[in-house]
Amino acid sequence: MEPMETIVKKVDKNQIDHTVIEEAGRILREGGLVAFPTETVYGLGADALKEEAAKKTYAAKGRPSDNPLIVHIADYEDLKKIAVRIPPETDALAAHFWPGPLTMIFEKSDIVPYGTTGGLDTVAVRMPSDPIAAELIRAAGGFVSAPSANTSGRPSPTTAEHVLADLGGKIDMILDGGAVDIGVESTILDMTVDPPMILRPGAVTAEMFESVIGPVTVDQTLIDSSSTKPPKAPGMKYRHYAPRAELIILEGDLREEILAIRQLSYAGSRKGKKVGIIATAETLPFYSNGVIKNVGTRENEKSIARNLYRVLREFDEEDVDIIYSESFAAQGIGSAVMNRLEKAAGHRRISASDVVAKQKYRRITFVSQTDTGRGPMAAELLRNHDLEQEYVIDSRGMVVLFPEPANQKAEAIMKSAQMTLQNHTSQQFDGENIQDDTLVLTIGEDHKNKILSEYENAANVYTLNEFVGDDREIPDPYGKPLTGYGECYGVLSEMIDRLAEKLNAMAKGEENE
Ligand code: AMP
Ligand code: MG
Repeated sequence: MEPMETIVKKVDKNQIDHTVIEEAGRILREGGLVAFPTETVYGLGADALKEEAAKKTYAAKGRPSDNPLIVHIADYEDLKKIAVRIPPETDALAAHFWPGPLTMIFEKSDIVPYGTTGGLDTVAVRMPSDPIAAELIRAAGGFVSAPSANTSGRPSPTTAEHVLADLGGKIDMILDGGAVDIGVESTILDMTVDPPMILRPGAVTAEMFESVIGPVTVDQTLIDSSSTKPPKAPGMKYRHYAPRAELIILEGDLREEILAIRQLSYAGSRKGKKVGIIATAETLPFYSNGVIKNVGTRENEKSIARNLYRVLREFDEEDVDIIYSESFAAQGIGSAVMNRLEKAAGHRRISASDVVAKQKYRRITFVSQTDTGRGPMAAELLRNHDLEQEYVIDSRGMVVLFPEPANQKAEAIMKSAQMTLQNHTSQQFDGENIQDDTLVLTIGEDHKNKILSEYENAANVYTLNEFVGDDREIPDPYGKPLTGYGECYGVLSEMIDRLAEKLNAMAKGEENE
């Protein structure tokens, strides 16, 4: 296809410039392609009654031509011109949901070319609520076919910039009306069956239909992702909405999803992969590795729908290798969000609890008497190891009367090994340090015994030498000259080398405790 110049025109939906819409309408009437905003996503408009225009649409999008287009109308009476055998419930549905994010499927009339319907005898019809869309449809003659204005297979466009990135040079014009409101495609309801059937979830939900016309059914292939039957909306069979990177959805309770994503993003980053994370406003602070994006707030699923495709596109721009996503509640518009996310992931989902079970310890706490010498040294030594899994590494003292910096001789020894305890302040050990996911390693036998006697249900408490299988004791340098600290450092650093090896072996499943 010859590249062409794509005109981009800004349009303010509160103050529409009618000359721009006239120009766009003329392009459509003459068989051209114009992308325009709707409340769901940007559409790629063409004259729905022209066979040739549909061909151009498929070519620009790189879309398989068996994937039918939705015909957009602006006036309800126009439905009768393109659809036949319109069932009686249609009036009530249109009264409630049109104009709006609902597409209904009917038997087509003769004036609708097979190019537009992908060879089907049915036609999909929607009346969008965006005022720019409505005015454009009228200016074009009343029937505008419009699939999403993206390259086939990429996330649907929610801004004019997205359209330009995909279709610049391939279409005549883009009307830029700013970011869309809803962000996921319309609900598709098949009116040719009784009761009507939802073929694609969207902002209008099954519950909303039910309150107007009674129960509707849902295409089972949407619910059962392992189904081998093709979905009834031809477009739903493609790996749609997809970013370039592999996308994996973690499933479980939110706490486990966060832990699993932390684990996977740490492991991925360690292997040199650029990892993307789809997080929410509520969970953002829990992540530290990778490109972390806020897709919206869990308090308002609409915000997630609105941002999802933009976030997927941003990961493409940042060239991430793999994306991990939390799951979202499949209620209300949430079911449309999960449907699009699962399609973007090609149905790759993994159980968060399975991932979480692969890491026994998430925190390692070293315990000494005053938390000013050997404990902080051990912690800093371990932090300087390359570890397969991510741990919070810290230290505590059995008797800390007030917070103190590290012992100066300990600091001097660490400095000579290019490390520092400068950021350390001593802290008292307490019950908070006893947790299922915390490995407590004491410097001396006495510290361990004291913990075990004070905390009845203390688990995972070992002396450091016992845990690494070394029968030496760690010398106490307190009150000794610098050489005493040096000697202690020597023993400690060997034990911490062994500890790191053991933790890494445990991470690979090669060793238990
Ligand atoms: P898009 O406009 O990009 O949202 O794609 C249109 C969607 O509507 C695709 O998933 C199509 O398969 C679906 N669709 C359009 N017409 C029909 C139809 N006559 N029967 C079933 N699905 C349809
Ligand atoms: Mg689409």
